[in-house]
Amino acid sequence: MRIGCPKEIKPQEFRVGLVPAAVREAVAHGHEVIVERGAGLGAGYDDAAYEAAGARLGSVEEVWETADLIVKVKEPQAPERARLRKGQVLFTYLHLAPDPEQTRDLMASGATCIAYETVTDARGGLPLLAPMSEVAGRLAPQMGAWALQKANGGRGVLMGGIPGVRPARVVVIGGGVVGAAAARVAVGMGAEVTVLDRSLPRLAWLDDIFMGRLSTRYSTREAILELLPEADMVIGAVLIPGAAAPKLVTRADLARMQPGAVLVDVAIDQGGCFETSRPTTHQDPIYEVDGIVHYCVANMPGAVARSATQGLGHATLPFLLALADKGWRQACAEDPHLRAGLNVHAGAVTHPAVAEALGLPL
Ligand code: NAD
Repeated sequence: MRIGCPKEIKPQEFRVGLVPAAVREAVAHGHEVIVERGAGLGAGYDDAAYEAAGARLGSVEEVWETADLIVKVKEPQAPERARLRKGQVLFTYLHLAPDPEQTRDLMASGATCIAYETVTDARGGLPLLAPMSEVAGRLAPQMGAWALQKANGGRGVLMGGIPGVRPARVVVIGGGVVGAAAARVAVGMGAEVTVLDRSLPRLAWLDDIFMGRLSTRYSTREAILELLPEADMVIGAVLIPGAAAPKLVTRADLARMQPGAVLVDVAIDQGGCFETSRPTTHQDPIYEVDGIVHYCVANMPGAVARSATQGLGHATLPFLLALADKGWRQACAEDPHLRAGLNVHAGAVTHPAVAEALGLPL
């Protein structure tokens, strides 16, 4: 099979769908790989690295026109959708539910579109979303620590303190993939960390693995109000699958916080879990409301495109190889978790939740 990897064209997207190591694996499986010239530069991979791994370099036209299977990162933009054709397989993040225009174009293309975000695993998780949550979670305290610096409007508190000086107090709301990763880094930086969740098994797991290095609290309104006055940083990491994030800190609550405290809203891609959150960009990541610094970048992994590309590539590789080795039909028939990723085929939406969200027949 011929696998094609175009350069991402969505603004500020520096990741790439294939790393040279994945090219090498695909070539070892007997496939041909064509990579658009310059596709990996944003993630730190030059064309020579792809050639050394066995890829052929080509123009954007050559990639889209000759590949049987296209591997990307972001949902195809309008010019990319115009290039998709019948019989081609697209493997990438799609996020179709809120995007009727993209859905229409994908249906019209006749291509088979498999979305990273709806591929499942045996434990009910989303294995192609989890690595990006890991990245965003680990970045959250790092970004928050920067925002806490005086020059950025923060309280001027050092995460780890120094001997005789109390470290920063970090509250993480939501102890899932993002929250646990954020807690790990905040603990590693020496902060005093409290994690809130509504899942008791999750709190028990966190309590177990951190062995007293953080506190856990059951997440209630009262617990949040009690923790806000002492917090230097609050990280929002909640998720209610399929729903907008609940607003857990209101504008009025900001008055309880210390001036220059920082809110990092990782859940901003689901609307945000603080009432005063609005999406920001890597170019202009923070703003202030009532003396509280807000960091609400919706695509946090973009800040570390190289690590994020590698993490995503590790998670997608087994599915990519299955698709290429067996063809999408056979691969999806054998693996219900990959089958769960099938969103569009032969002009129709094939994923129940996506069809329902868009009011389309299955
Ligand atoms: P997850 O499902 O692993 O974890 C969410 C956790 O929130 C669960 O443990 C759940 O029990 C908990 N929760 C739900 N309601 C709660 C409440 N009221 N109080 C406390 N905890 C509550 O999800 P995740 O992968 O950790 O993702 C978290 C959020 O981060 C999502 O909105 C996701 O889209 C977002 N995210 C953002 C970026 C970014 O760049 N901004 C990147 C990756 C993920």
